[in-house]
Amino acid sequence: MSLRLYDTGSRSVRTFEPLEEGRVGMYVCGATPQASPHIGHLRSGVIYDVLLRWLRASGYEVTFARNVTDVDDKIIAVAAERGVPWFAVAEGNQRVFTQGYDLLGCLPPTIEPRATGHVPEMIVLIRRLIEKGHAYTAAGDVYFDVKSWADHYGELSNQRLENMRPTGDTPNEDAKRDPRDFALWKGAKPGEPSWETPWGDGRPGWHLECSAMATKYLGAAFDIHGGGVDLIFPHHENEIAQSRAAGDGFARYWLHNGLLTVDGEKMSKSVGNVVLLPDLLGKARPAEIRYYLASAHYRSLMDYTDAALAEAVSAYQRIEGFVTRASEVVGAVEPADAVPEAFAAAMNDDLGVPQALATLHETVREGNSALAAGDEDAVRGHLASVRAMAGVLGLDPLSEQWTQSGGDDLRPVVDALVAVALEQRQAARARKDYASADAIRDGLTAAGIVVEDTPHGARWELKRD
Ligand SMILES: [Zn+2]
Repeated sequence: MSLRLYDTGSRSVRTFEPLEEGRVGMYVCGATPQASPHIGHLRSGVIYDVLLRWLRASGYEVTFARNVTDVDDKIIAVAAERGVPWFAVAEGNQRVFTQGYDLLGCLPPTIEPRATGHVPEMIVLIRRLIEKGHAYTAAGDVYFDVKSWADHYGELSNQRLENMRPTGDTPNEDAKRDPRDFALWKGAKPGEPSWETPWGDGRPGWHLECSAMATKYLGAAFDIHGGGVDLIFPHHENEIAQSRAAGDGFARYWLHNGLLTVDGEKMSKSVGNVVLLPDLLGKARPAEIRYYLASAHYRSLMDYTDAALAEAVSAYQRIEGFVTRASEVVGAVEPADAVPEAFAAAMNDDLGVPQALATLHETVREGNSALAAGDEDAVRGHLASVRAMAGVLGLDPLSEQWTQSGGDDLRPVVDALVAVALEQRQAARARKDYASADAIRDGLTAAGIVVEDTPHGARWELKRD
């Protein structure tokens, strides 16, 4: 069964057929690092990482480009407010974005191009548009002429040109041929960064950079373009207009992820409800946060609440608990080569992670039953299967990502100490000194160690609240 994806361009679910067999080119609009990433940004990072992992698990060789808009109005405004250079704002925040993606187990993109490093490519694209009569210079800026593309402009966002409002994207509105024309290039202003072009000094318009960078790394036509639903208009509509008007085929499937609200409200500084990664790290471990962000369907609107995060934490711990117990009983088991059919079918159905997780949890339940029944062959099979499915979602508790995380290097030491205590408890029980046995157990509990008696002897884990 092949992958089917909801394509905003055609407003339908389409069977995914890459331009070139076995290969996928994917572009995702990344950060404008004017501030640290909030959980909405991180959700997007996790969503496209799950898609990337699923494409790779399905046998595709994927080239994944995710850009950084490292110069724009907001970055310049923040820099002016703080009295620091614009690039210090972009660079500092971009580092926090990267750390956040890494911490949540997102694989690095094949290429992470920055707008400021691609001015020559933008100049070429502007020249092609001017030559074809789709762009013009005015008041030091360069604009895209939407009327020259009127038959197509609005196709992605499903609007008609006559219903669109002025863009208001520059202070030079009067110089435009049409108020709906958007800036490809913004003329230099005093105190702002600028680059030299044949049409005067200035800086990139936001939309132009994505067209220039996507085609540089993925070709004139490529497979998948992703981003948040808030980017459909004007950003992606303008990307398509520029690229197609210039003669490029551009993206063939448009994926848009739903946004994330907090307690039913849009995140905003003024409301004071912006949730950042450090806020979540006080409540859950990185793997649990990833589970939470991946668990909803990518197109759904997600509403963050502490209760919803706590539920995801328990759900992840059910997977982790089985994998840990099963490994203790049957030893190391590698992830299976293939995931169960039901899991694959769910993922192929427009990346149906909620259904895929249902299959994963069903297998965990079967695995737990096999553990209880002492059926080690079945435990081995379920463990391999659970690890394979969890791995596709970037959630295999035994993967390097999660076993290397802080504190786990103490595990062998604690293991040895707990083993000594448990031996003494066993000895106390053997001599029917139950008071001492209980006292040892209580002492461990007070230290945050939960002891569980199983048919295979006592095991322990850290108590998590
Ligand atoms: Zn973009």
